[in-house]
Amino acid sequence: MGLFATGNEGKRFFYKTAAEIELLRNANLVVSKTLAHVASILKPGITGLEIDKAAEEFIGDHGGRPAFKGYHGFPASLCVSYNDIVVHGIPSKREFKENDIVSVDCGVELEGFYGDAAFTFAFQDVEEPVLELLRVTYASLYLGIEQAVHGKRIGDISAAVQDYCERKHPYGVVRDLVGHGVGRSLHEDPEVPNYGKRGKGPLIMEGLALAIEPMVNLGKKEVHQADDGWTIHTRDRMPSAHFEHSVVVKKGKADILSDHAYLLDEIKNNPNLQEVLPKS
Ligand code: MG
Ligand code: MG
Repeated sequence: MGLFATGNEGKRFFYKTAAEIELLRNANLVVSKTLAHVASILKPGITGLEIDKAAEEFIGDHGGRPAFKGYHGFPASLCVSYNDIVVHGIPSKREFKENDIVSVDCGVELEGFYGDAAFTFAFQDVEEPVLELLRVTYASLYLGIEQAVHGKRIGDISAAVQDYCERKHPYGVVRDLVGHGVGRSLHEDPEVPNYGKRGKGPLIMEGLALAIEPMVNLGKKEVHQADDGWTIHTRDRMPSAHFEHSVVVKKGKADILSDHAYLLDEIKNNPNLQEVLPKS
């Protein structure tokens, strides 16, 4: 789940101890395995409500609590955002189709700490240029994470994502929603925009836990909130991608707490889904 952008002025950052980082890792492990469970059951005809129910049971079976359920009144355990829905899609009775993309965002609270990660899945008939949007957005997440090291600034993360998506590629980076700090709350300071300037913004130091989550549109960057008060869709109704990891800032290299390896394995085993890994 992303955060509506408001600005970071005068905010307090919580730096995590080694013990707290392990608790965050545990919460993110449940998130990662839940996303993998979703990847294993995605097929044409399944509904958002069905995958939400499966995820909620899975999270409970692993000792966690779905962090999104009831968050500011959000009615479900997952955000399920397909095609032109950017984020915060409410799981519905709509059946998925062979040419859909679907972003699944999962948050889990475990032992008082929050995990948060997301992935955009591509069903079997999704074609270029939508697949390329997914590859580029996924790669931009890792470019952002590369900047999440001690002594950098939030703007270094933001610029890495924006430059790759908007300068190297012709996409629109969403401005209205941002990544965020994460810890004993689902959303902590600082905000982590996916656009900005190198060397600007808050200094980041070892122990800061961040959810980095590029939301990138195939068309223009503008989004619109639906009447349900949650669903964010692209204004031009073109597709949008969303990938998210929770990480901890370290010296030299960020520690990635969530792990997409579990879901990538399930994608390989699920003939209904395509791999969206960047071409290497
Ligand atoms: Mg999320
Ligand atoms: Mg988030």
